[in-house]
Amino acid sequence: MIAIDGPAGSGKSTLGTALARRLDLSTLDTGASYRAVAAEALHQGLNIHDGHAVASLVEHSTLEVGDRTIINGRDVTAEIRSDAVNTAVSIVAAHQEVRDHLVSWQRRWADEHDGGVIEGRDIGSVVFPEAAIKLYLTADPEERARRRAEEGIEGIARRDRIDSTRTASPLMAAEGSWAIDTTSLPVTQIVEMVLERLEHTEEGQ
Ligand code: C5P
Repeated sequence: MIAIDGPAGSGKSTLGTALARRLDLSTLDTGASYRAVAAEALHQGLNIHDGHAVASLVEHSTLEVGDRTIINGRDVTAEIRSDAVNTAVSIVAAHQEVRDHLVSWQRRWADEHDGGVIEGRDIGSVVFPEAAIKLYLTADPEERARRRAEEGIEGIARRDRIDSTRTASPLMAAEGSWAIDTTSLPVTQIVEMVLERLEHTEEGQ
């Protein structure tokens, strides 16, 4: 299990995909699971501020996250990247009850896939604190905004603010995590650094 956390645009998905390819592991973008729930809540006209209503929706939904994201049989792969979902997702993800259901779902996914590279905001701190390696990625705000140009600097700043100040599993560097600033490091170099660290960790065990 490899846990990758960090704010929007810090390079989690790029690194996660590259690491999974090298290590022949599956990857899970947990952000897509929160986005799918936000998309479905909007689709059903729920009040996204009502944590209990959204949690009940999750409890009664089927969810698939992979090449395509599908909730209750509806393919929401494109919809989860829309402005409406960008705006709603951090509100939905701040409800503890919603997180409880999605964290169980994420743990089941990991069981079924025999581990994997899992990225999000609370993976090393809450979901898989026992991961073999925990990475906490950062990057300069200008660079993160450039990577998320379609959302805009204000949109990502707002999400980061909500994600790091909420009471339920706020975004933070997990204990024992390794912080990497990806602003000007090529992904190939970070992959080599992580593989080297993993080798040492395994030797040390
Ligand atoms: O990773 P991505 O930017 O797609 O995540 C979308 C949103 O989902 C985040 O801004 C955050 O509110 C929520 N999220 C979370 N916990 C995770 C992954 C994502 O709260 N593990």
